[in-house]
Formats: sequence, C-alpha cells, structure tokens
Amino acid sequence: MHKKEMYEIYERLGISRAALDIGFDAENALVDRFREIDETAEYNQAKILRAMQKNRVNAACFAATTGYGYNDMGREILEKVYADCFGSEAALVRPQITCGTHALAIALSANLLPGDELLCPAGGPYDTLEEVIGIRPSPCSLKEYGVRYRQVELKEDGTFDLDAIRSAINEKTKMVEIQRSKGYKTRPSFSVSQIGDLISFIRSIKPDIICMVDNCYGEFTEITEPTQVGADMAVGSLIKNPGGGLAPCGGYICGTKECVDRCAYRLSAPGLGQEVGANLGILTSLYQGLFISPQVVAGALKGAVFAAHIYEKLGFRTVPSSAEKRHDIIQAVELGSPEAMKAFCLGIQSAAPVDSYAAPEPWAMPGYDSEVIMAAGTFIQGSSIELSADGPMREPYAVYFQGGLTWHSAKTGILMSVQKLADAGIVKL
Ligand SMILES: *Cc1c(COP(=O)(O)O)cnc(C)c1O
Repeated sequence: MHKKEMYEIYERLGISRAALDIGFDAENALVDRFREIDETAEYNQAKILRAMQKNRVNAACFAATTGYGYNDMGREILEKVYADCFGSEAALVRPQITCGTHALAIALSANLLPGDELLCPAGGPYDTLEEVIGIRPSPCSLKEYGVRYRQVELKEDGTFDLDAIRSAINEKTKMVEIQRSKGYKTRPSFSVSQIGDLISFIRSIKPDIICMVDNCYGEFTEITEPTQVGADMAVGSLIKNPGGGLAPCGGYICGTKECVDRCAYRLSAPGLGQEVGANLGILTSLYQGLFISPQVVAGALKGAVFAAHIYEKLGFRTVPSSAEKRHDIIQAVELGSPEAMKAFCLGIQSAAPVDSYAAPEPWAMPGYDSEVIMAAGTFIQGSSIELSADGPMREPYAVYFQGGLTWHSAKTGILMSVQKLADAGIVKL
C-alpha cells in the first residue's frame, strides 16, 4: 500500500497521521463485519438486477413524459421493479411524493376512514407523523377527519408489550404502524424478522388489520424487506436508501394491490389513481439510484460500524454498539456535551464535497423542543443517504450519524470528526 502517499493526501484534507492510524486500526478490526455487509449488498444487488431483467427494463423506460403522463412505460416498469424487489404485489414510486413524511401520510390517510382507529404498537411514531396523526394538533390531521389513535409503549427492556397490544386492539382498530428504524429514539431498531413476528401476533388477534411499516433507512440493510414477512405496506423516501443518492426526490409505497391502489387514488384523485403523473425526465436517476443502492447502503453501514468502533475506543457510548447487528444505517454517538456535538458536526461538514467551508450552528428548528444541530454537505438538498449528522442539543448530547455516498467518503467524515474533537481538546489521539 502507498502508506506515505495516503498520509499525505489525508493531511491535505486536514486529517492528521494520528487520526488516520486510528482509522487503519479500526478497519483491520472490522474485516469480518465488512465482509458480512458486502454479502448483504451482493445478495440485494442480484435481487435488483433480476427484477430489472424480469421486467425488461430498456432504453425507452428513461424517456421523459409531460402533462398527464398517460402511458408512461418507464414509470410503470419502475413500479413493477420496486414491487419485485420488495416482494410485494404492487408499488407506487413517484417524484410527486415529496418526501418520506408525505409517503407515510398518503399510506395512512388512504387506508383509514372516519371512525377507524390507528395503533402504534411499538412506541410513538416518527416526529413528523405526530402532526399527520394529530397527536400534535395540525390542520388536515387524521384526527380532524375523525380517525382515532392509540399507542402502546415498548417494555423497559425494549421488547414488544404483547399483553398491552392485545388489550389495545379493538373492533375499530383498522391499521397498525410500525417504525423499523429507531429515528431520534434510543431504542434499538427492529429487524425484519422481529417485525414479522409482531405482525403475526397482531394478525392472530385481528386477522384483517392493515400492517404498515415505516421503512425509512432500513431498505437493503438486510436481505428481506417487511413486505416479505406480512406487512401490507412498506413506505419510505427516495432521498434515503433506495434512491442510492441519485434520485433527486420522491417516495415509494410497496404493498398489496388493494392498499397501493388506494394510495394512488389519494395521491392523485379518485378515478385517476396510478394512471397519471408525468415523470419529467428523472426516471434514469430513479432506476440508476435503485440499481446502486445496495452498494451505497453497504458504504453507509460500514461507516456506521466504523464510527461505533472508533468512538467506543475513545470512551463514548454508541447505539448500536460496533458488535451489534444492523437493521438501519443510523449510528448514534452519545458525546456528552454541546461542545463535542459541535466539533463532531464540524468534522462531518468539513469532509463534505459540497458546502465544506460552512460551520454548523445549533438552531431552533420548527417542531422540536430544543435546538438542533445539523451537518450535511449534500448534492441533493436534505438527502440523508449522503454523509450527514444531526442531533438535539440536550442530554445525553447524542449525534445521529448516517450515510455517505461511498464508503471512503464516510470514512473521511468520521476521521475528520475525530480530528475536530482532538483539535477542540475533547479527546486525545
Ligand atoms: C426520515 C424519516 C421519516 C420522514 O422522512 P422525510 O423524508 O424526512 O419526511 C420518517 N420516518 C423515519 C424513521 C425517518 O427516518
């Protein structure tokens, strides 16, 4: 290896020899973990390749459509490819779905009617869904339309509270919503198999309940998806995992034909459904992004494990730990002080290809009760499959780190964060 040149090029980025050595040691220690991650990516790559071949993806699929977007073959085939990759009957994959929250809001409001009850059986939903559901009042929330809501907390040890779930389910319970990734919570993320067990349990109590999974950040971290273990819908954002960093916007809903049809009617209009929606020429990026997604997710997973390993060595608590199995790409590091959070985020920002000269500052973001700091120097605005970190400025002063379009850029970000912590005198290398 060109070790001398390596030290030199990293030095030019602002990463010292001592920080780079920590990285080399970590990589050596993580050889087996990285191999597992590569195997998952290989399996998912083959799965996606096969889905593209089976559905006869061809050059005409990449043509732009405008206006109503009738007979958009590229859009229709992309939706079939998604359905095959997720093992579902149908899929709705659209640039008109603006983000993950929008996709989730569509899935909920399309399948819940006045008088129905929604149950979150594994703790509260993602922050932005609180307004969608009406837990925090908002115009046009499900609550305003007469949809009721119940929530069952996880047990102390982070497992499902089956007794409480059983007693929360009643004749009005129409749908359950399960979030795969931990989001901004400290609970562990759920594996696809845990989600499958929970769905089976719920179905044993009431067989016709619609089971919806918030799949954000979980896609392609395992070799199966929630729709393959009983979920009626898996929902997510294209500027996270399945867009592979190339999709400029969009969201997806994979699921049963019945649920997806309703989502399409809610997204466009009753009677129109999936038949309309011009693609405006972005389909190439959606196909290419999906195609490279397993590799991008693998890079993000390696970055997460690498960060956990290094920060544990430096004496910080990490969730999950470097030894735990991964079910999403998020890595939390409890840094213990506002100064450390700032230094960490400065490191991530300084290592970005875009806006690397900016210094992240905490700010009062709408919808959060404490200030939030964010680092992201991304090609696609707000894309969190790209290298990014954020966290609320409160105890335990944890940053949530994710993404990296390539493994080496994720590695650079993490080493730079270590460098900035050292520069600030918070750690010693
Ligand atoms: C990101 C995320 C969402 C919301 O997605 P946006 O695209 O930010 O609206 C919902 N749930 C989880 C678990 C997420 O990580």
